[in-house]
Amino acid sequence: MQPSDLQDNIAGRLAAVRDRIAAAATRAGRPAQDVTLVAVSKTHPADAVEAALLAGQTVFGENRVQEAAAKFLGFPTTHPEVRLHIIGGLQTNKVRDAVRIADVIETLDRPKLADAIEAAIQREGRAPKLLVEVNVGDEPQKAGVVRQDTDRFIEDCRRRFGPSLIGLMCVPPAGEDPVPHFTWLAERAAHHGLTTVSMGMSADFEVAIACGATWVRVGSAIFGQRAARQE
Ligand SMILES: *Cc1c(COP(=O)(O)O)cnc(C)c1O
Repeated sequence: MQPSDLQDNIAGRLAAVRDRIAAAATRAGRPAQDVTLVAVSKTHPADAVEAALLAGQTVFGENRVQEAAAKFLGFPTTHPEVRLHIIGGLQTNKVRDAVRIADVIETLDRPKLADAIEAAIQREGRAPKLLVEVNVGDEPQKAGVVRQDTDRFIEDCRRRFGPSLIGLMCVPPAGEDPVPHFTWLAERAAHHGLTTVSMGMSADFEVAIACGATWVRVGSAIFGQRAARQE
């Protein structure tokens, strides 16, 4: 693809997604500024991120720390407005790098990871905002704290991280109606006074907004299909 085609494609898709977000917010009786678009650029090259930046997008999500570090390396100097969210499962040996590069880690889901993040914040002198990821479908193979442990884990994280803990995140089970899951997550966030609710992807972000999402994580609707390497 010619660079200008890439630019036009991504700018056009971004505009369409922003319009759909605004319309969904309006239908829910909420101002469009309530909802932040996290553009998920995983597997797509830095060129694609740059095209989105030129179209005014500043918030990006990546699920692998190494890939994010390589891709976003130059942007803090050329585009200081960039905000990077880590949205993928985090191994403890990647935490220090994550704390160094991320503005937000959306996938805090177990005490061992909380220990590692606490230690890394101490060492790096830098504290990203944090979301607790909830396994809303209690799926055995999936990341996230299971529902019955959620309240306790949120309280633990709040003691550890104070105001850096700002919200909850989920990926509901594939092939199920997401509404009960989205609703449950938004209720838990409200119960704990957490203002950020990260839910909704390309296939269901409008539904998520109707259920109270304040962040939507949208990848393929902006950047196109990914190779099958990862989800
Ligand atoms: C890949 C990914 C997304 C974006 O998915 P799309 O269907 O491409 O919009 C959102 N959230 C997480 C956690 C992801 O891994």
